[in-house]
Amino acid sequence: MKALISGAGIAGLTLAWHLERAGWQVELVERAGAFREGGYMIDFYGAGYEVAERMGLTARLRQLRYPVTELGYVDRDGRQTSRFKLSGFDQVVSLLRGDLARTIAEATAAPVRYATTVETVHQDGPGAVTVGLSDGTRHQVDLLVGADGAHSRVRELAFGGPEDRYVRYLGHHVAACVITDRELSERVGVRYRMLTVPGLMAGAYALRHDRLAMLFLHREPDPALPADPAGTLRRHYGDLGWILPEALPRLPADLYYDQVTQVEMDSWSRGRVALLGDACQAVSLFAGHGASMAMAAAWVLADELTTGDGDLPAALTRYEERMRLTIVDVQAFGRRFIEWMAPSSRLRIAARDWMLRLASLPGADRLLLNSLTPGGHDLITSRTEQLTR
Ligand SMILES: Cc1cc2nc3c(=O)[nH]c(=O)nc-3n(C[C@H](O)[C@H](O)[C@H](O)COP(=O)(O)OP(=O)(O)OC[C@H]3O[C@@H](n4cnc5c(N)ncnc54)[C@H](O)[C@@H]3O)c2cc1C
Repeated sequence: MKALISGAGIAGLTLAWHLERAGWQVELVERAGAFREGGYMIDFYGAGYEVAERMGLTARLRQLRYPVTELGYVDRDGRQTSRFKLSGFDQVVSLLRGDLARTIAEATAAPVRYATTVETVHQDGPGAVTVGLSDGTRHQVDLLVGADGAHSRVRELAFGGPEDRYVRYLGHHVAACVITDRELSERVGVRYRMLTVPGLMAGAYALRHDRLAMLFLHREPDPALPADPAGTLRRHYGDLGWILPEALPRLPADLYYDQVTQVEMDSWSRGRVALLGDACQAVSLFAGHGASMAMAAAWVLADELTTGDGDLPAALTRYEERMRLTIVDVQAFGRRFIEWMAPSSRLRIAARDWMLRLASLPGADRLLLNSLTPGGHDLITSRTEQLTR
């Protein structure tokens, strides 16, 4: 069987890993000109972590992880207003998105065509799909997978309609980058530091090699992205104090900037075209589960494709049925978390600080951890395991 996967990110690479081990011929196309390093810090745990364990990747991920021992808020002068010790949270692996993707990529033999996108999709009857790529080549495959993120091109080509049919805007823009600056990195240290004022949040965490991971989140009623993202950040955050006056002039050219969205669709496949990861199930950074859910979904899709009776559209339907309820739960959790991560008023900021102080009491950290993990643990039971139980 032949599969073409658009998007060499977390979901696409994980699917390639599993399909090639089941004897499929797999190729990936990736819009970026080269492998995408760095990005932003993610917390990785739950069902996706279990998939990584089954793939034999967790030893490497634990080498790459960052020891986030404390989460705390500061004021404009950098003085701590509240904090929460994360010592009991060993099952959460904090690492750069690029390091997770690199670890999967290094274990995956499938070739990746960089600087290439899917341009045309034709389903020529029940047996195959013909895909035209931006490099002028055409490919006939059994399955095309759109694992090309929340703004998926495959979704646009195979499902049609404007993006806002599928994308729920959560009222915020997000930006992230890694900057190199020894002094700032030492000032922040290996603890997650955040500054919030109503509608604005800036976060920082020191990385190895004098680097600093930065995250910016701001309330924005207009989903349209600005022409000058770096200028927009300087305008919003320039007067907030803390490390921002030094950090903002150093924003790199590869600054990540996007809307915060969730993707909701009636169906995740059309014939022999399937969507995977953020393309069909984005939960948003508020849910803190997207990478984990992307890996879980890739594993479930591979399980259905490789252990069924060969009826591909039926396998795609079962994949969606197994994933959908968990995704709906995680998305709802993410929407509830908006006010916690990006409080809209001073009162809510004060309430959040009090919650953190209470959560620091003995035993309360477990309750907080449980409230941060909205299910998905039984996703990773294969069809074969289900049958032999
Ligand atoms: C700031 C931030 C913080 C986050 N924090 C967390 C967290 O703590 N925990 C967590 O689990 N998740 C987190 N997430 C979410 C997580 O990063 C995503 O849900 C996850 O990466 C989704 O995987 P994916 O493979 O679907 O998409 P991606 O990993 O984004 O991969 C999509 C790939 O498709 C490529 N692509 C895009 N368009 C095209 C095209 N037209 N043709 C070909 N290729 C294309 C992209 O270049 C990319 O390589 C966070 C997200 C953000 C933005």
